[in-house]
Amino acid sequence: MADTGGGHRSAGQALAEAFAEEDPLAQVVMVDALRHHAPFPVNHIHRTYRPLIHHGRWLWSAAWHLSRGYSRVERMRRVFWPVARRRLAALYRSQEPDLVVSVHPLLNHVPLDVVRQALPGVPFATVVTDLVSVHPAWLCPDVDLLCVPTEAAGRLALSAGVPRERVRVSGLPVSRKFSPAMNGNGAEITDNQPGRRRLGLHPDLPLVLLVSGGEGMGPVSDIARALAQTIQRGGHSAGQLAIICGRNHALQRRLEAMHWGIPVRVAGFVENMPEWMAAADLVVTKAGPGTISEALIMGLPILLSGFIPGQEEGNVPYVVDNGAGAYESQPERLAARAAEWLRPGNPALAQMAARARALAKPNAARDIARDLLALLASSP
Ligand code: UDP
Repeated sequence: MADTGGGHRSAGQALAEAFAEEDPLAQVVMVDALRHHAPFPVNHIHRTYRPLIHHGRWLWSAAWHLSRGYSRVERMRRVFWPVARRRLAALYRSQEPDLVVSVHPLLNHVPLDVVRQALPGVPFATVVTDLVSVHPAWLCPDVDLLCVPTEAAGRLALSAGVPRERVRVSGLPVSRKFSPAMNGNGAEITDNQPGRRRLGLHPDLPLVLLVSGGEGMGPVSDIARALAQTIQRGGHSAGQLAIICGRNHALQRRLEAMHWGIPVRVAGFVENMPEWMAAADLVVTKAGPGTISEALIMGLPILLSGFIPGQEEGNVPYVVDNGAGAYESQPERLAARAAEWLRPGNPALAQMAARARALAKPNAARDIARDLLALLASSP
């Protein structure tokens, strides 16, 4: 994995959790292979990822789209092979794994070749953590098992030449801590009050949860301000707002210093996202695949505020066309939409919650762990 955003680590942790449940003897070692085992400047990507997308959005978009071709990925593989090979081989040899699993788009073609050479006979699997817009960097025809989250991603895998019998449409691995039963009864109708009490929030005010990935990317302050103003206009007790800034400390400091006029809670990187989602009535988020998949499981309507060009583009129609939420990139319009959903008596939230649950794949991590253990059992 690698810490570009928060989704790859979350997927890795969900798989580690599922392995432990399926086979108590399994040992999982999770490695940020870009940070610790890639050559300069790729080893700094955990620091440069957010500024790069924030300031160089067009550059990121161009790089993603222009590199989206199988022959281009093959050329990149040839460029990176000589510089990355030795460090990766040292990593794999030092761990002596029985199975290698990648949950990152930049850790497939070269690592697979290195595993084939350094650890002959050790299977290599990829678990794709982009929902729909899957870059060919994820897709190696030679992989032993490829787990994808959606049928659309599965079709891309087949067109990349991955044999059908090695492709599984499993869903995106999400921790079992995200469960529709979080409020105790597993009921279709979620009661958010206990969740809000647990977090020290006002129990009776509807909660809008604002997150923007593990890095707290994008115009979070503008969206927060628009939401607070609109909620305030809706009346004294129309709602409350929780803003999760992730690893964006500057954003957190800025928001903590602001005066809001409605109850607002600001947090940095939280380790208890399931509790925040259980307390919320809707989530406002960029189109991150991890957050979307978690919200679907929790039956939480999703208001998308933006997307990272390239890998998150397909996530917008995935949510909107399936009726689990809406997309509004303009903060004032987004806030108006949120206020409309929260209006007492509006059935929209309950309808979207039902569609979200229908689309969710809460057992993906378990299913993938089982498939991977079966792969391990069948390898020589
Ligand atoms: N996350 C978290 N705590 C935070 C912010 C985010 O645990 O304070 C998790 C979130 O639950 C999700 C992941 O980080 O699992 C974000 O993944 P996503 O794919 O939505 O966006 P990314 O950060 O990878 O761009």
